Amino acid sequence: MSEIEQVRLDMGGFEVNAYVVHAPGGDLIVDAGAEPEKILAETTRPVAAILITHGHADHVGALDAIRVETNAPVYAHPADAEGAGIVDYEPLGDGEDLVMAGETLHVLHTPGHSPGSVTFVVGKDQIVGDLILSGSVGRTDLSGASWEEIEVSLRKVMPLWDHTTRLFAGHGQVLNALEELETNPYLPLGVV
Ligand SMILES: [Zn+2]
Ligand SMILES: [Zn+2]
Repeated sequence: MSEIEQVRLDMGGFEVNAYVVHAPGGDLIVDAGAEPEKILAETTRPVAAILITHGHADHVGALDAIRVETNAPVYAHPADAEGAGIVDYEPLGDGEDLVMAGETLHVLHTPGHSPGSVTFVVGKDQIVGDLILSGSVGRTDLSGASWEEIEVSLRKVMPLWDHTTRLFAGHGQVLNALEELETNPYLPLGVV
């Protein structure tokens, strides 16, 4: 089982997370908002891929720097890639299994916070981007965002939760899914 490491990045007083998945055969970077040296410092082996949860600037600001340093392929959802200025990438599709560096990441298209938001399911854990935040969910008052869509997306990821599931969110601490279920008023009832 791969270890998922949180890298807390500072964007001038505003905090955003990146993640390094230590897979059996190499490292995977998820999101690259800022401080590329800090993200790369957490990698211990060659980076097999760079995965993007969604195209907002706080998640892709350091993408070019990370790409230059690692030469790794970039995976993003087409609905966000163009708006984020990401060119030359592998398109992510809903329901696909990415097998990389000896780990399988199941991709779920989870729009709502942005049209191209995705969730990466790694074992029982989920890297959710800004779909779910501590006690809250991602903003839906932005251009391209939709409350109706985010609720559908929540209903897609929540049935996969069990008592071991951790949620690796785009901001704040790593969450315990069932704790979040009890305390987060934005999660739909009766799904888990
Ligand atoms: Zn966002
Ligand atoms: Zn964000």
